[in-house]
Amino acid sequence: MTKGALSILIADDDEGDRKNLRRILKKSDIECVIEEACDIPEVMHSAENQAFDCAILDYQMPGTNGLEGLALLRKFHPYMSIIMVTGQGDEMLASEAFKRGASDYIPKRSITEDSISHVIKNTLEKTALLRKVDEQRQALESFAHVLAHDLKAPIRHIRTFGEMLAEAMENKEYDEVAHFQERMDIAAERIEVLIDRLMQYNTLSGKEVELRAVSMQNIVENALDNLSVVVRERDASVVYHNLPEVIGDEPQLILLLQNLIGNGIKYCESDAPRIEIGVERNEYDCCFSVADNGIGIPEKYHKDIFSPFRRLHGSGEYEGAGLGLAICKKIVERHTGKIWCESQPDNGTTFFFTISRGQCDEPTRVETSACRK
Ligand code: ADP
Repeated sequence: MTKGALSILIADDDEGDRKNLRRILKKSDIECVIEEACDIPEVMHSAENQAFDCAILDYQMPGTNGLEGLALLRKFHPYMSIIMVTGQGDEMLASEAFKRGASDYIPKRSITEDSISHVIKNTLEKTALLRKVDEQRQALESFAHVLAHDLKAPIRHIRTFGEMLAEAMENKEYDEVAHFQERMDIAAERIEVLIDRLMQYNTLSGKEVELRAVSMQNIVENALDNLSVVVRERDASVVYHNLPEVIGDEPQLILLLQNLIGNGIKYCESDAPRIEIGVERNEYDCCFSVADNGIGIPEKYHKDIFSPFRRLHGSGEYEGAGLGLAICKKIVERHTGKIWCESQPDNGTTFFFTISRGQCDEPTRVETSACRK
């Protein structure tokens, strides 16, 4: 993955040590934006608000000890590089840190510009590899799932309607023939959609993400071009203004917006589906929101819906392969961002996602509800 400055979190209760590490990092060849935390609750709070590339954690901190904090951080950020800072000759502690998910450790007194740069680069490579292996495993699992479950039903339909079509031909019931042929077409189309979505989902894993400054305004316009037929058919309106530049992979971000806007229109019973795209920013990220006036999602499913093949409706109600939001999640996570939703049944849904912000944009008007995560 290519990226600009790394985001690094330094966690140490000693202000002098934090400042010293910040100074060493700034002098090293690592280009980085640094945030500091002085205890584990603050670490968790910062990591909840922003996905860091790397956290450098002192093992001795007040309250929760560093090892417990490490385990907690790892649980929420499986692919973050976490470096534990230990005392000199603390091999026992280092081995415990590895057990709890540290990517590496470095004794405090050995921290120099070269050593910290070396450890950070190594751990970033290691975590990227880990992510790749996990993604490939997931891709295989999802492929097996589709073969075992989702493709069976339409294939069975094609076989059954094929037999019925043959009978209707024999009996010269030509109206029936047309009907059965249509049903076979629908089943074949479903197989095609499933395979296309699966390919989209799986190829995301293998692809390197090329991050560069891209215009979110262009990205939304491209997504809307791809959705022009459904937007016209449903008489949908999509509202957005002056969206900023972000650091991202353009084709993937188009797919992300296309899936979110497409879902907003699909899962809407109103004659006039309305999607509002807004943005809010902090120092590092842009938090985008995609709000619809659709059927809403009960709170107990707000996390589940991002899992592959999780659907809340049968294909008789709303067509779909159950991979749209899993694709969105994968894209956002590959951009080291987060995605979540807020929604009430019958009251519309707002999806939020964060992406690193570009550097050359001016603040723009916030169009929709505030980001609270
Ligand atoms: P699908 O192909 O079924 O649309 P997704 O992964 O895109 O798959 O969505 C998963 C489930 O989440 C959907 O089956 C639907 O029940 C729910 N969902 C997604 N987006 C929305 C939305 N904007 N409004 C209401 N429900 C939604």
